[in-house]
Amino acid sequence: MQGAILNKKHCATCAHIYRRVRLEHTTQAIISYIGVVVLLSVAASGIYLFSPVKHIKQLHTPTRYFMGYYTCTALAFVIFSAAFPNPNLLSIIVTNSFFALSFYFLKYGFASRKNPDYKPLYKDPIVYTNLFVLAIIMAGPLYAIYDSVLLRTALITFNCAIISLTTLKHIARVDGQRDSSENLAYFSICVGIALSAVMFLTLVIYSDAFTYLSVLVVAQSVLNILLLGSTLSLFLSDLSAMYYQESITDELTGLYNRRFFLRRASQETNASFRYKFPVSIILCDIDNFKKVNDNYGHLVGDHVLQAFSKLLKKCTRESDVLARFGGEEFIIMLPQTDKNGAYVLAERMRQETEALSVGESKKAQDVKFTASFGVTTCTSNNSIEQNIHLVDEALYSAKESGKNRVIITEAQETNLDDSL
Ligand code: GH3
Ligand code: MG
Ligand code: MG
Repeated sequence: MQGAILNKKHCATCAHIYRRVRLEHTTQAIISYIGVVVLLSVAASGIYLFSPVKHIKQLHTPTRYFMGYYTCTALAFVIFSAAFPNPNLLSIIVTNSFFALSFYFLKYGFASRKNPDYKPLYKDPIVYTNLFVLAIIMAGPLYAIYDSVLLRTALITFNCAIISLTTLKHIARVDGQRDSSENLAYFSICVGIALSAVMFLTLVIYSDAFTYLSVLVVAQSVLNILLLGSTLSLFLSDLSAMYYQESITDELTGLYNRRFFLRRASQETNASFRYKFPVSIILCDIDNFKKVNDNYGHLVGDHVLQAFSKLLKKCTRESDVLARFGGEEFIIMLPQTDKNGAYVLAERMRQETEALSVGESKKAQDVKFTASFGVTTCTSNNSIEQNIHLVDEALYSAKESGKNRVIITEAQETNLDDSL
Protein backbone atom coordinates (compact mmCIF):
# COMPACT_ATOMS: atom_id res chain seq x y z
CA MET A 1 0.00 0.00 0.00
CA GLN A 2 2.76 2.35 1.12
CA GLY A 3 4.72 1.27 -1.96
CA ALA A 4 1.74 2.15 -4.15
CA ILE A 5 1.49 5.63 -2.58
CA LEU A 6 5.21 6.09 -2.98
CA ASN A 7 4.95 4.99 -6.58
CA LYS A 8 2.10 7.40 -7.22
CA LYS A 9 4.05 10.24 -5.57
CA HIS A 10 7.12 9.24 -7.53
CA CYS A 11 5.17 9.30 -10.81
CA ALA A 12 3.67 12.75 -10.02
CA THR A 13 7.16 14.11 -9.32
CA CYS A 14 8.48 12.52 -12.53
CA ALA A 15 5.66 14.07 -14.55
CA HIS A 16 6.32 17.45 -12.98
CA ILE A 17 10.06 17.20 -13.68
CA TYR A 18 9.34 15.93 -17.19
CA ARG A 19 6.96 18.87 -17.85
CA ARG A 20 9.52 21.34 -16.47
CA VAL A 21 12.33 19.87 -18.54
CA ARG A 22 10.12 19.92 -21.64
CA LEU A 23 9.21 23.54 -20.97
CA GLU A 24 12.84 24.47 -20.42
CA HIS A 25 13.84 22.74 -23.64
CA THR A 26 11.15 24.54 -25.59
CA THR A 27 12.19 27.86 -24.06
CA GLN A 28 15.82 27.15 -24.87
CA ALA A 29 14.90 26.18 -28.41
CA ILE A 30 12.88 29.36 -28.94
CA ILE A 31 15.66 31.52 -27.51
CA SER A 32 18.23 29.76 -29.74
CA TYR A 33 16.03 30.34 -32.82
CA ILE A 34 15.70 33.97 -31.82
CA GLY A 35 19.49 34.12 -31.48
CA VAL A 36 19.75 33.13 -35.14
CA VAL A 37 17.43 35.97 -36.22
CA VAL A 38 19.30 38.44 -34.03
CA LEU A 39 22.69 37.38 -35.45
CA LEU A 40 21.35 37.53 -38.99
CA SER A 41 19.93 41.01 -38.41
CA VAL A 42 23.10 42.30 -36.75
CA ALA A 43 25.23 40.89 -39.60
CA ALA A 44 22.94 42.48 -42.22
CA SER A 45 23.02 45.77 -40.33
CA GLY A 46 26.84 45.57 -40.32
CA ILE A 47 26.89 44.91 -44.07
CA TYR A 48 24.96 48.16 -44.60
CA LEU A 49 27.09 50.03 -42.06
CA PHE A 50 30.33 49.16 -43.89
CA SER A 51 28.86 48.95 -47.38
CA PRO A 52 30.79 51.06 -49.91
CA VAL A 53 27.48 52.12 -51.53
CA LYS A 54 26.66 54.29 -48.50
CA HIS A 55 29.32 56.75 -49.75
CA ILE A 56 27.34 57.32 -52.95
CA LYS A 57 25.23 60.42 -52.33
CA GLN A 58 22.01 59.06 -53.87
CA LEU A 59 22.22 55.77 -51.96
CA HIS A 60 23.26 57.13 -48.58
CA THR A 61 19.75 57.67 -47.15
CA PRO A 62 18.22 54.36 -48.36
CA THR A 63 21.26 52.51 -46.94
CA ARG A 64 20.68 54.13 -43.54
CA TYR A 65 16.99 53.16 -43.59
CA PHE A 66 17.75 49.53 -44.50
CA MET A 67 20.30 49.46 -41.70
CA GLY A 68 17.55 50.81 -39.43
CA TYR A 69 15.28 47.95 -40.49
CA TYR A 70 17.80 45.31 -39.42
CA THR A 71 18.74 47.15 -36.20
CA CYS A 72 15.08 47.45 -35.14
CA THR A 73 14.45 43.76 -35.94
CA ALA A 74 17.47 42.74 -33.83
CA LEU A 75 16.37 44.97 -30.94
CA ALA A 76 12.80 43.65 -31.07
CA PHE A 77 13.99 40.04 -30.84
CA VAL A 78 16.60 40.79 -28.14
CA ILE A 79 14.00 42.47 -25.88
CA PHE A 80 11.50 39.70 -26.66
CA SER A 81 13.92 36.93 -25.68
CA ALA A 82 15.09 38.83 -22.56
CA ALA A 83 11.51 38.93 -21.27
CA PHE A 84 10.61 35.42 -22.52
CA PRO A 85 8.61 33.42 -21.36
CA ASN A 86 7.02 35.91 -18.91
CA PRO A 87 6.89 39.28 -20.67
CA ASN A 88 5.75 42.38 -18.79
CA LEU A 89 3.74 45.26 -20.24
CA LEU A 90 6.80 47.40 -21.00
CA SER A 91 8.62 44.62 -22.88
CA ILE A 92 5.43 43.84 -24.86
CA ILE A 93 5.02 47.47 -25.94
CA VAL A 94 8.71 48.03 -26.73
CA THR A 95 9.07 44.75 -28.67
CA ASN A 96 6.00 45.37 -30.81
CA SER A 97 6.89 49.01 -31.40
CA PHE A 98 10.33 47.97 -32.70
CA PHE A 99 8.66 45.40 -34.96
CA ALA A 100 6.32 47.98 -36.48
CA LEU A 101 9.11 50.57 -36.70
CA SER A 102 11.38 48.13 -38.55
CA PHE A 103 8.78 47.84 -41.34
CA TYR A 104 8.51 51.62 -41.53
CA PHE A 105 12.30 51.77 -41.97
CA LEU A 106 11.97 49.31 -44.84
CA LYS A 107 9.24 51.40 -46.46
CA TYR A 108 11.28 54.59 -46.13
CA GLY A 109 14.35 52.80 -47.57
CA PHE A 110 12.50 52.10 -50.81
CA ALA A 111 10.68 55.45 -50.81
CA SER A 112 13.89 57.48 -50.39
CA ARG A 113 15.60 55.45 -53.13
CA LYS A 114 12.71 56.22 -55.50
CA ASN A 115 12.46 59.87 -54.51
CA PRO A 116 15.51 61.40 -52.75
CA ASP A 117 13.30 64.30 -51.57
CA TYR A 118 10.85 61.97 -49.81
CA LYS A 119 10.03 63.30 -46.32
CA PRO A 120 12.16 61.79 -43.53
CA LEU A 121 10.68 59.05 -41.36
CA TYR A 122 10.84 61.09 -38.15
CA LYS A 123 8.58 63.73 -39.74
CA ASP A 124 5.80 61.29 -40.61
CA PRO A 125 2.81 61.69 -38.24
CA ILE A 126 1.40 58.33 -39.44
CA VAL A 127 4.36 56.52 -37.86
CA TYR A 128 3.84 58.20 -34.45
CA THR A 129 0.05 57.66 -34.58
CA ASN A 130 0.48 54.01 -35.53
CA LEU A 131 2.97 53.33 -32.71
CA PHE A 132 0.81 55.20 -30.18
CA VAL A 133 -2.43 53.39 -31.13
CA LEU A 134 -0.56 50.06 -31.16
CA ALA A 135 0.78 50.67 -27.63
CA ILE A 136 -2.67 51.72 -26.33
CA ILE A 137 -4.36 48.57 -27.74
CA MET A 138 -1.55 46.34 -26.45
CA ALA A 139 -1.73 47.86 -22.96
CA GLY A 140 -5.50 48.29 -22.70
CA PRO A 141 -7.85 45.79 -24.38
CA LEU A 142 -5.17 43.12 -24.98
CA TYR A 143 -3.35 43.24 -21.61
CA ALA A 144 -5.25 44.92 -18.79
CA ILE A 145 -8.74 43.78 -19.89
CA TYR A 146 -8.13 40.54 -21.78
CA ASP A 147 -4.55 39.29 -21.48
CA SER A 148 -4.10 37.46 -24.78
CA VAL A 149 -0.70 36.62 -26.30
CA LEU A 150 -2.42 35.31 -29.40
CA LEU A 151 -4.45 38.44 -30.10
CA ARG A 152 -1.44 40.65 -29.48
CA THR A 153 0.69 38.68 -31.95
CA ALA A 154 -2.17 38.68 -34.47
CA LEU A 155 -2.42 42.47 -34.16
CA ILE A 156 1.30 43.14 -34.72
CA THR A 157 1.45 40.65 -37.63
CA PHE A 158 -1.51 42.38 -39.29
CA ASN A 159 0.01 45.82 -38.63
CA CYS A 160 3.37 44.88 -40.22
CA ALA A 161 1.62 43.27 -43.22
CA ILE A 162 -0.31 46.54 -43.84
CA ILE A 163 2.93 48.59 -43.71
CA SER A 164 4.53 46.11 -46.18
CA LEU A 165 1.56 46.48 -48.53
CA THR A 166 2.03 50.28 -48.57
CA THR A 167 5.76 49.70 -49.31
CA LEU A 168 5.07 47.94 -52.62
CA LYS A 169 4.23 51.14 -54.51
CA HIS A 170 7.63 52.65 -53.63
CA ILE A 171 9.75 49.87 -55.14
CA ALA A 172 9.69 50.77 -58.86
CA ARG A 173 11.57 53.99 -59.52
CA VAL A 174 9.48 54.56 -62.64
CA ASP A 175 5.85 53.78 -61.81
CA GLY A 176 4.63 50.60 -63.49
CA GLN A 177 8.09 49.73 -64.88
CA ARG A 178 10.01 47.50 -62.51
CA ASP A 179 13.46 46.36 -63.65
CA SER A 180 14.78 42.91 -62.70
CA SER A 181 16.28 43.91 -59.35
CA GLU A 182 13.16 45.89 -58.45
CA ASN A 183 11.17 42.76 -59.29
CA LEU A 184 13.34 40.83 -56.84
CA ALA A 185 12.67 43.40 -54.08
CA TYR A 186 8.94 43.32 -54.90
CA PHE A 187 9.03 39.53 -54.70
CA SER A 188 10.76 39.67 -51.27
CA ILE A 189 8.13 42.00 -49.82
CA CYS A 190 5.33 39.82 -51.26
CA VAL A 191 6.96 36.75 -49.65
CA GLY A 192 7.01 38.72 -46.37
CA ILE A 193 3.28 39.46 -46.69
CA ALA A 194 2.53 35.82 -47.58
CA LEU A 195 4.55 34.70 -44.53
CA SER A 196 2.44 37.02 -42.32
CA ALA A 197 -0.66 35.21 -43.64
CA VAL A 198 0.98 31.84 -42.86
CA MET A 199 1.79 33.05 -39.33
CA PHE A 200 -1.78 34.24 -38.85
CA LEU A 201 -3.15 30.86 -40.02
CA THR A 202 -0.72 29.02 -37.69
CA LEU A 203 -2.09 31.08 -34.85
CA VAL A 204 -5.72 30.37 -35.77
CA ILE A 205 -5.17 26.63 -36.34
CA TYR A 206 -2.83 25.76 -33.44
CA SER A 207 -3.62 28.55 -30.94
CA ASP A 208 -0.21 27.80 -29.53
CA ALA A 209 2.36 30.50 -28.84
CA PHE A 210 5.38 28.17 -29.21
CA THR A 211 4.32 26.92 -32.65
CA TYR A 212 3.60 30.49 -33.68
CA LEU A 213 7.00 31.68 -32.45
CA SER A 214 8.81 28.92 -34.35
CA VAL A 215 7.04 29.93 -37.57
CA LEU A 216 7.73 33.61 -36.82
CA VAL A 217 11.45 33.00 -36.37
CA VAL A 218 11.72 30.96 -39.60
CA ALA A 219 9.65 33.54 -41.51
CA GLN A 220 11.70 36.46 -40.18
CA SER A 221 14.98 34.71 -41.11
CA VAL A 222 13.75 33.99 -44.64
CA LEU A 223 12.52 37.57 -45.05
CA ASN A 224 15.78 39.05 -43.73
CA ILE A 225 17.90 36.99 -46.14
CA LEU A 226 15.63 37.77 -49.09
CA LEU A 227 15.61 41.48 -48.29
CA LEU A 228 19.37 41.62 -47.85
CA GLY A 229 19.95 39.93 -51.22
CA SER A 230 17.35 41.96 -53.07
CA THR A 231 18.28 45.38 -51.64
CA LEU A 232 21.99 44.78 -52.29
CA SER A 233 21.27 43.73 -55.88
CA LEU A 234 19.05 46.81 -56.20
CA PHE A 235 21.95 49.02 -55.13
CA LEU A 236 24.33 47.23 -57.50
CA SER A 237 22.04 47.80 -60.45
CA ASP A 238 21.56 51.45 -59.35
CA LEU A 239 25.33 51.84 -59.23
CA SER A 240 25.89 50.40 -62.69
CA ALA A 241 23.05 52.58 -64.08
CA MET A 242 24.64 55.61 -62.44
CA TYR A 243 28.08 54.87 -63.88
CA TYR A 244 26.61 54.19 -67.32
CA GLN A 245 24.75 57.52 -67.18
CA GLU A 246 27.99 59.26 -66.17
CA SER A 247 29.87 57.60 -69.03
CA ILE A 248 27.44 59.03 -71.62
CA THR A 249 26.89 62.47 -70.08
CA ASP A 250 28.88 65.68 -70.37
CA GLU A 251 29.49 66.91 -66.83
CA LEU A 252 29.31 70.66 -67.46
CA THR A 253 26.15 70.84 -69.56
CA GLY A 254 24.34 67.61 -68.62
CA LEU A 255 23.93 66.82 -72.35
CA TYR A 256 25.05 63.55 -73.96
CA ASN A 257 28.75 63.35 -74.83
CA ARG A 258 30.44 62.62 -78.15
CA ARG A 259 30.77 58.85 -77.46
CA PHE A 260 27.04 58.42 -76.89
CA PHE A 261 26.17 60.60 -79.90
CA LEU A 262 28.27 58.56 -82.32
CA ARG A 263 26.73 55.30 -81.08
CA ARG A 264 23.14 56.55 -81.23
CA ALA A 265 23.70 58.37 -84.51
CA SER A 266 24.84 55.26 -86.40
CA GLN A 267 21.86 53.28 -85.01
CA GLU A 268 19.50 56.09 -86.03
CA THR A 269 20.93 56.43 -89.58
CA ASN A 270 20.73 52.64 -90.10
CA ALA A 271 17.08 52.67 -89.01
CA SER A 272 16.32 55.68 -91.21
CA PHE A 273 17.52 53.90 -94.36
CA ARG A 274 15.75 50.68 -93.50
CA TYR A 275 12.41 52.33 -92.69
CA LYS A 276 12.89 55.20 -95.18
CA PHE A 277 12.64 58.30 -93.08
CA PRO A 278 14.96 61.30 -93.32
CA VAL A 279 17.60 62.12 -90.69
CA SER A 280 19.36 65.47 -90.50
CA ILE A 281 22.31 66.72 -88.50
CA ILE A 282 23.01 70.20 -87.16
CA LEU A 283 26.52 71.08 -85.97
CA CYS A 284 26.94 74.41 -84.21
CA ASP A 285 29.79 76.34 -82.64
CA ILE A 286 29.79 79.48 -80.48
CA ASP A 287 31.43 82.38 -82.29
CA ASN A 288 34.58 83.96 -80.82
CA PHE A 289 34.22 81.97 -77.63
CA LYS A 290 37.87 82.45 -76.84
CA LYS A 291 37.13 86.17 -76.41
CA VAL A 292 34.34 85.37 -73.91
CA ASN A 293 36.86 83.44 -71.83
CA ASP A 294 39.51 86.11 -72.21
CA ASN A 295 37.20 89.01 -71.37
CA TYR A 296 35.09 87.52 -68.59
CA GLY A 297 37.02 84.50 -67.34
CA HIS A 298 36.61 80.75 -67.63
CA LEU A 299 33.75 80.58 -65.12
CA VAL A 300 31.60 82.94 -67.15
CA GLY A 301 32.61 80.93 -70.24
CA ASP A 302 31.20 77.86 -68.50
CA HIS A 303 27.94 79.72 -67.72
CA VAL A 304 27.69 80.67 -71.39
CA LEU A 305 28.11 77.01 -72.39
CA GLN A 306 25.39 75.98 -69.92
CA ALA A 307 22.99 78.70 -71.11
CA PHE A 308 23.59 77.75 -74.75
CA SER A 309 22.98 74.05 -73.94
CA LYS A 310 19.69 74.96 -72.24
CA LEU A 311 18.63 76.97 -75.28
CA LEU A 312 19.41 74.05 -77.64
CA LYS A 313 17.58 71.63 -75.35
CA LYS A 314 14.53 73.89 -75.27
CA CYS A 315 14.44 74.04 -79.09
CA THR A 316 14.75 70.26 -79.67
CA ARG A 317 12.32 67.36 -79.25
CA GLU A 318 12.58 64.33 -76.94
CA SER A 319 13.38 62.13 -79.95
CA ASP A 320 16.30 64.33 -81.09
CA VAL A 321 19.80 63.45 -79.92
CA LEU A 322 21.61 66.51 -78.58
CA ALA A 323 25.24 66.25 -77.48
CA ARG A 324 28.26 68.38 -76.64
CA PHE A 325 30.66 67.41 -79.41
CA GLY A 326 33.74 69.32 -78.26
CA GLY A 327 34.64 72.45 -76.25
CA GLU A 328 32.02 74.94 -77.53
CA GLU A 329 30.72 72.74 -80.33
CA PHE A 330 27.33 71.00 -80.15
CA ILE A 331 25.69 68.45 -82.44
CA ILE A 332 22.06 67.50 -82.90
CA MET A 333 20.64 64.50 -84.76
CA LEU A 334 17.09 65.02 -85.94
CA PRO A 335 15.23 61.83 -86.91
CA GLN A 336 12.16 62.25 -89.15
CA THR A 337 13.44 65.70 -90.25
CA ASP A 338 14.46 66.68 -93.79
CA LYS A 339 16.99 69.39 -94.66
CA ASN A 340 14.33 72.13 -94.85
CA GLY A 341 13.00 71.29 -91.40
CA ALA A 342 16.55 71.16 -90.03
CA TYR A 343 17.36 74.55 -91.61
CA VAL A 344 14.27 76.17 -90.06
CA LEU A 345 15.23 74.78 -86.65
CA ALA A 346 18.87 75.88 -86.94
CA GLU A 347 17.79 79.39 -87.99
CA ARG A 348 15.45 79.59 -84.97
CA MET A 349 18.30 78.52 -82.69
CA ARG A 350 20.61 81.11 -84.25
CA GLN A 351 18.08 83.92 -83.69
CA GLU A 352 17.38 82.83 -80.09
CA THR A 353 21.13 82.71 -79.38
CA GLU A 354 21.48 86.25 -80.72
CA ALA A 355 18.70 87.39 -78.38
CA LEU A 356 20.14 85.55 -75.37
CA SER A 357 22.19 87.27 -72.70
CA VAL A 358 23.93 85.52 -69.85
CA GLY A 359 23.89 87.40 -66.54
CA GLU A 360 27.28 88.04 -65.01
CA SER A 361 26.53 89.36 -61.55
CA LYS A 362 29.99 90.49 -60.40
CA LYS A 363 30.63 92.77 -63.36
CA ALA A 364 26.94 93.73 -63.46
CA GLN A 365 26.74 93.23 -67.20
CA ASP A 366 25.30 90.65 -69.54
CA VAL A 367 27.38 88.55 -71.89
CA LYS A 368 26.07 88.50 -75.46
CA PHE A 369 27.24 86.00 -78.04
CA THR A 370 26.32 84.40 -81.37
CA ALA A 371 26.74 80.95 -82.93
CA SER A 372 27.24 79.49 -86.41
CA PHE A 373 25.36 76.46 -87.71
CA GLY A 374 26.02 73.76 -90.33
CA VAL A 375 23.18 71.54 -91.57
CA THR A 376 23.11 68.36 -93.62
CA THR A 377 20.77 65.46 -94.35
CA CYS A 378 22.24 61.97 -94.05
CA THR A 379 22.49 59.75 -97.11
CA SER A 380 22.53 55.98 -97.32
CA ASN A 381 25.90 55.72 -99.04
CA ASN A 382 27.64 57.75 -96.34
CA SER A 383 28.85 56.45 -93.01
CA ILE A 384 28.04 58.51 -89.92
CA GLU A 385 31.64 59.82 -89.97
CA GLN A 386 31.20 60.98 -93.59
CA ASN A 387 27.91 62.67 -92.73
CA ILE A 388 29.59 64.45 -89.81
CA HIS A 389 32.39 65.49 -92.14
CA LEU A 390 29.77 67.03 -94.48
CA VAL A 391 28.07 68.98 -91.69
CA ASP A 392 31.50 70.12 -90.46
CA GLU A 393 32.18 71.54 -93.91
CA ALA A 394 28.88 73.43 -93.71
CA LEU A 395 29.87 74.87 -90.32
CA TYR A 396 33.27 75.83 -91.68
CA SER A 397 31.56 77.70 -94.55
CA ALA A 398 29.35 79.50 -92.01
CA LYS A 399 32.46 80.60 -90.08
CA GLU A 400 34.30 81.59 -93.26
CA SER A 401 31.41 83.62 -94.61
CA GLY A 402 31.19 85.86 -91.54
CA LYS A 403 29.83 83.71 -88.63
CA ASN A 404 26.35 83.96 -86.97
CA ARG A 405 24.66 82.16 -89.86
CA VAL A 406 23.26 78.81 -91.04
CA ILE A 407 24.72 76.95 -94.05
CA ILE A 408 23.38 73.73 -95.59
CA THR A 409 25.63 71.19 -97.32
CA GLU A 410 23.90 69.11 -99.94
CA ALA A 411 24.94 65.46 -100.01
CA GLN A 412 26.22 64.32 -103.40
CA GLU A 413 23.95 61.36 -103.67
CA THR A 414 20.54 61.52 -102.00
CA ASN A 415 19.24 57.98 -102.23
CA LEU A 416 16.77 58.81 -99.53
CA ASP A 417 15.16 61.65 -101.47
CA ASP A 418 14.89 59.35 -104.47
CA SER A 419 13.11 56.74 -102.54
CA LEU A 420 10.73 59.08 -100.72
P1 GH3 B 1 35.35 80.65 -83.74
O1 GH3 B 1 34.35 81.72 -83.80
O2 GH3 B 1 36.17 80.50 -84.96
O3 GH3 B 1 34.74 79.36 -83.32
O4 GH3 B 1 36.37 81.09 -82.58
P2 GH3 B 1 36.39 80.59 -81.11
O5 GH3 B 1 37.15 81.57 -80.29
O6 GH3 B 1 35.01 80.30 -80.64
O7 GH3 B 1 37.12 79.20 -81.24
P3 GH3 B 1 38.49 78.67 -80.73
O8 GH3 B 1 38.56 77.24 -81.19
O9 GH3 B 1 39.61 79.58 -81.14
O10 GH3 B 1 38.39 78.71 -79.14
C1 GH3 B 1 37.52 77.88 -78.44
C2 GH3 B 1 37.72 78.16 -76.96
O11 GH3 B 1 36.79 77.41 -76.17
C3 GH3 B 1 39.10 77.78 -76.48
C4 GH3 B 1 38.87 76.98 -75.23
O12 GH3 B 1 39.64 77.39 -74.16
C5 GH3 B 1 37.41 77.23 -74.92
N1 GH3 B 1 36.79 76.13 -74.22
C6 GH3 B 1 36.73 74.81 -74.58
N2 GH3 B 1 36.06 74.10 -73.66
C7 GH3 B 1 35.68 74.96 -72.65
C8 GH3 B 1 34.99 74.81 -71.41
O13 GH3 B 1 34.54 73.73 -71.03
N3 GH3 B 1 34.78 75.91 -70.67
C9 GH3 B 1 35.25 77.12 -71.07
N4 GH3 B 1 35.01 78.18 -70.26
N5 GH3 B 1 35.93 77.29 -72.21
C10 GH3 B 1 36.15 76.23 -73.00
MG1 MG C 1 33.94 78.75 -81.56
MG1 MG D 1 35.23 75.31 -81.89
